[in-house]
Amino acid sequence: MQNQGISPGLRARIALEKHGFSFTHSLGQNFILDDDFLEEIALESGVGEGEAVLEIGPGPGLLTHHLASHCRQVLALEIDRKLEPVLNEVLEGVNNAEIIFEDVMKCDLSVLLEERFPGENVQVVANLPYYITADVIERLLTCGANIGNITVMVQKEAAERIGAQLGNKNYCALAMLTQYYYDVEELMDVSPDRFSPPPHVMSRLIRLNRRMDGLRAKDEKLLLRLIRSAFRMRRKTLVNNLTGDFGVSREQAEKLLMSQNLDVRIRGEALSVKQITRLSDALGEMLQSRANA
Ligand code: SAM
Repeated sequence: MQNQGISPGLRARIALEKHGFSFTHSLGQNFILDDDFLEEIALESGVGEGEAVLEIGPGPGLLTHHLASHCRQVLALEIDRKLEPVLNEVLEGVNNAEIIFEDVMKCDLSVLLEERFPGENVQVVANLPYYITADVIERLLTCGANIGNITVMVQKEAAERIGAQLGNKNYCALAMLTQYYYDVEELMDVSPDRFSPPPHVMSRLIRLNRRMDGLRAKDEKLLLRLIRSAFRMRRKTLVNNLTGDFGVSREQAEKLLMSQNLDVRIRGEALSVKQITRLSDALGEMLQSRANA
């Protein structure tokens, strides 16, 4: 009852102060404590009333609070147990949010989400810890869970890499992998003064909109290996990457590229998402027929 009439943002500030919370820079703890701005983020994510949401790194739970008012259930993973008393106060009376104290990088997301939300498509919303942005996104893409759209606050440079198109200097393995599953939408640039404490970098809110129509690889694990291989040594030709990483001969690698109408001197970074998907299928067939021989 003591919190009645107090905005969630003020509640969070009071709780952080009361529990003597000290921010851990190495955990990417830059919080957003502005209710209006968090409401805007929740709306931009587009999560709907009946939906389940996974949040990564709830911090004091303020974004969690706003998300909970827009969806059916929020499940949030937080690594820092010191936030428990703060979260308890901020989320008092919010009955559709569950916090699990676990490292997102160690948690089996596929098992957890299937257990909590069987058969459901889960939306992800997060103000991500920037030190693991790329790892978290790769994990969300490859964990095998039934994940829908992903709305994340990331460092602006990370957003530029994730959304980079073929031919751009930022085009990278993460861009290819992300764009295999998603269309990348830039929502807004966010200045450091929106956070407490302010980070030293500009941020950007992006939404990854799940593509329903894209070309699908026959073996997505092989596609992932091929994408990693294509960018491992950027300056090497794809033939070199293929011979080094898949145990095929130079001759076989060249034959493979020619079968896809690709120049034998092409570099991995020059492939579109469609091209690498088709190449992955052809490579799979080649590896299979070699295994059968
Ligand atoms: N959601 C809050 C907000 O918007 O103000 C906090 C965002 S803060 C940028 C990132 C949060 O992620 C912190 O609470 C931090 O403790 C948490 N975090 C850092 N590493 C994590 C990990 N490996 N697994 C889960 N949470 C993590």
